[in-house]
Amino acid sequence: MPEQNPCYKISELLHQAKQSLSQTGIKTAALETRVLLCHVGGLSEAEVIAYPDRTIEEKPAAEFFDLVARRSQRIPLAHLLGVREFWGLEFCVNAQTLIPRPETEFAVESAVNCARAIFARTGQVRILDMGCGTGCLLVSILHEVAGASGLGIDINPQAVDLARKNAEKLGVERRSTFKCMDWGEGLIEKFDVIVSNPPYIRSGELAGLMPEVAVHEPVRALDGGVDGLDEYRKIIPRAQRLLNPQGRLIVEIGHGQATGVLGLLAQHDFQPVDAAKPVIHDLAGCERIISAVKVC
Ligand code: GLN
Repeated sequence: MPEQNPCYKISELLHQAKQSLSQTGIKTAALETRVLLCHVGGLSEAEVIAYPDRTIEEKPAAEFFDLVARRSQRIPLAHLLGVREFWGLEFCVNAQTLIPRPETEFAVESAVNCARAIFARTGQVRILDMGCGTGCLLVSILHEVAGASGLGIDINPQAVDLARKNAEKLGVERRSTFKCMDWGEGLIEKFDVIVSNPPYIRSGELAGLMPEVAVHEPVRALDGGVDGLDEYRKIIPRAQRLLNPQGRLIVEIGHGQATGVLGLLAQHDFQPVDAAKPVIHDLAGCERIISAVKVC
């Protein structure tokens, strides 16, 4: 906080904060400073833009400078706010789990379509989210498909707690359970749909990621081994055992991993749902989601 002539005018606060964030290499500094100011001041973004000459109280201003200082250390914005929007829903986040990414919404979309079709045919649909983290996949699917129910599993007990909290916050707690386990080892129940956004970054690429990810997100949620495919090697055979006949496996993948993952799927008797378009690309044009059906 400046020691002399503190100025708590919105325009001044934004200007100073934007400069310090820009200096640390944050490209979206202007947007992020507005978001942080709205957060501490209880203001809307429209108010912050429309009334630059308004002042804010000393306490929120101090809180604002504190958050800006932490953001300058490249702590992710979502960790500072404690929440991240995903699939139009507000998820609680913390440093224990991956922050939900927009590209993962393509996995939700695929799973929602599939779960709706199964529900329409059979009157029920059971979903398993492997490595649920915040619970963003399972919770979003259950929020969208009223008759669906599911289980979220994660190796990290703190992720399980967070996912459960998000299920409660978003009103799907009666249709969801969360358990701490390793890729479903020991599960005997069968599922109609399995979704997973496993760790898939190649180990050698971790250090080169932006500091928000490399330093502040859990390496266990990111590291997919030398070729990034280690976890698919565990998930795919496990999914083969846990799915009902004709059950669906929907996985997120990283760029350049489609051939490898499709190969693993074929080895374990899965076929892409759409043979003509086996991989769904995200908005950036990257290979992102594979939806496969268990054929025997
Ligand atoms: N399923 C969670 C997500 O999509 C967590 C994924 C992970 O930890 N790799 O955000």
